[in-house]
Amino acid sequence: MATVNGRKAIIEKIATTRTNYPQVDFNEATLKELFGINVFNTRVQKERLSKPVFKALQKTIREGATLDPAIADSVASAMKDWAIESGATHFTHLFQPMTGLTAEKHDSFLAPNEDGSAIAEFSGKELIKGEPDASSFPSGGLRATFEARGYTAWDPTSPAYIMDNPNGATLVIPTAFVSWTGEALDKKTPLLRSIDALSVQACRILKLFGKKVTRVTTTVGPEQEYFLIDSMFYWSRPDLINAGRTLLGAAPPKGQELEDQYFGAIPDRVIACMADCEAQLFKLGVPVKTRHNEVAPSQYEIAPIFEDSNLATDHNQLLMEIIRRTAPKYGLAALFHEKPFAGINGSGKHNNWSMSTDTGENLLNPGETPHENTQFLVFCVAVIRAVAKYPELLRVSVSGAANDHRLGANEAPPAIMSIFLGSQLQDIMDQLENGPAKNTKSGGMMEIGVSVLPKLPKDAGDRNRTSPFAFTGNKFEFRALGASQSIAGPNTVLNTIVAESLDYLATKLEADVKAGKNLNASIQELLSSILKESKKVLFNGDGYSKEWHEEAERRGLPNHKNTVESLPIIISKESVQLFSKYKVYNESELKSRFNILCEHYIKTVNVEAKLTAVMAKTMILPACYKYLGEVS
Ligand code: ADP
Ligand code: MG
Repeated sequence: MATVNGRKAIIEKIATTRTNYPQVDFNEATLKELFGINVFNTRVQKERLSKPVFKALQKTIREGATLDPAIADSVASAMKDWAIESGATHFTHLFQPMTGLTAEKHDSFLAPNEDGSAIAEFSGKELIKGEPDASSFPSGGLRATFEARGYTAWDPTSPAYIMDNPNGATLVIPTAFVSWTGEALDKKTPLLRSIDALSVQACRILKLFGKKVTRVTTTVGPEQEYFLIDSMFYWSRPDLINAGRTLLGAAPPKGQELEDQYFGAIPDRVIACMADCEAQLFKLGVPVKTRHNEVAPSQYEIAPIFEDSNLATDHNQLLMEIIRRTAPKYGLAALFHEKPFAGINGSGKHNNWSMSTDTGENLLNPGETPHENTQFLVFCVAVIRAVAKYPELLRVSVSGAANDHRLGANEAPPAIMSIFLGSQLQDIMDQLENGPAKNTKSGGMMEIGVSVLPKLPKDAGDRNRTSPFAFTGNKFEFRALGASQSIAGPNTVLNTIVAESLDYLATKLEADVKAGKNLNASIQELLSSILKESKKVLFNGDGYSKEWHEEAERRGLPNHKNTVESLPIIISKESVQLFSKYKVYNESELKSRFNILCEHYIKTVNVEAKLTAVMAKTMILPACYKYLGEVS
């Protein structure tokens, strides 16, 4: 911690330093030209691959078809030429081990020739499979250290890209990370499996509606919160450096009580840093869109346009990495911890989620008159049923020592999982529970009382910030995620529980249709019975209130207040059954994840305890002794 004088010196330095921000010249290249220039995307693939190879690769990307290994050499060769022309000297298989971070090991393209010169080499084999020494990554007992083999497998659905380094550039190939027996050692593999599971079930439902759809994916737009603080303050706090949050200290007299920060004008230094990050992200094909001040002092948010959930997950990791690396250029430190400072808001991540067909149809788009949109109602009720049936799995997907400081602390949604539908959709569900839905409440026009302002159509439902799972127009927003966590886990859970629900609905409906029953009548009956059972999870009121906690208990909704209480859910019978049935995790994979998360929790709390003791001994006690000396 900076002493009073230390702080003064830092503040003096900050106030008198004239920073020359690095320049990002948007005039040199327009936004449009910048976007994706460092990505081996469809455009580049088309340019550089032969027609049959391009087609085969696209089939894998779009339809999830198994990749023909025969084309790998051609793809690798084209990728290498493109990367070297763009300044890359090395390549790496990027993977997402259970640390929740990304991992990479770089190899150069160079291979020595007999005559003492060297050539650039990169084969299909090197593209498809890597073998990092995996013994030092958490495996939770899936492998003993003497069986260190772990493989990285190319994920063609997430395009390779070039990452500029201070001296050179690296070709980055997104990969899945598995043990030699094929068990998942990472976050990507289960996510990909869950997308497949959902796709199969969603297509069954769409078939009943006479639609020819071969692939359904889930789409995700994660809104990312973070802090930027002056790096001199950061380097003077051993707790921020080592634990990511302050463990000791005094709250400032002015925090967020004046509510003057949210959506406020963004300071110059911060906006310079944001623009730099955004330019780099554009080049990497990350469609960042929104930026603004958040509620707490020095807190900000960045949000991209939604993408396929696998890509969105990779891009969210990339986004955090770019911000972390870029902030120091501006004399700033980026904090992604869920609760860096006591007394002001912490940081979360809102996971906007929907399902989309390969023909581009958003399956959670209600249209103008949702009560007539049977297909939407089926998908929406399937999601409601999933959350009502598996609230604990959603809860545990956002558990962790850091997020424990937020959930339920009246700044983030409570640990009780419930759904906010808004008054329009709630009304339709109420009708549906008791018979066919007959009408859609319209919002009407807003009376602003100023004649020069245009009349604005009123939304039929308000927003609700206190709900962990809210319907927001054409998607659900899962709001309990922590800022630092990978979004892979929560989306794996969401995809799987909705797949199970869609499976349940499809099985009933298919049987009815086969028995000659009218599809609409069968849907009406089924949705009504599901709603009767699942409506306990619907709640449109204030999730922060004491009344809700009591009401939720009466409704029998689980409330696991912290990580320790929630972790055993991972290995519950129900969880093992569900995830094995849809081949997302097998039992040993779940056990290993449980072990890793327990260990991670214990280690985190332990580091914080040791740090607190060190700081008390080396920083606080000496100050006390000094003061005692002065007084006596
Ligand atoms: P707000 O702060 O009002 O919740 P934002 O505009 O900051 O909204 O973020 C909303 C996020 O939801 C964006 O990332 C947006 O791309 C995403 N989104 C919009 N439609 C979908 C969809 N169909 N599926 C997934 N995410 C979506
Ligand atoms: Mg939001």
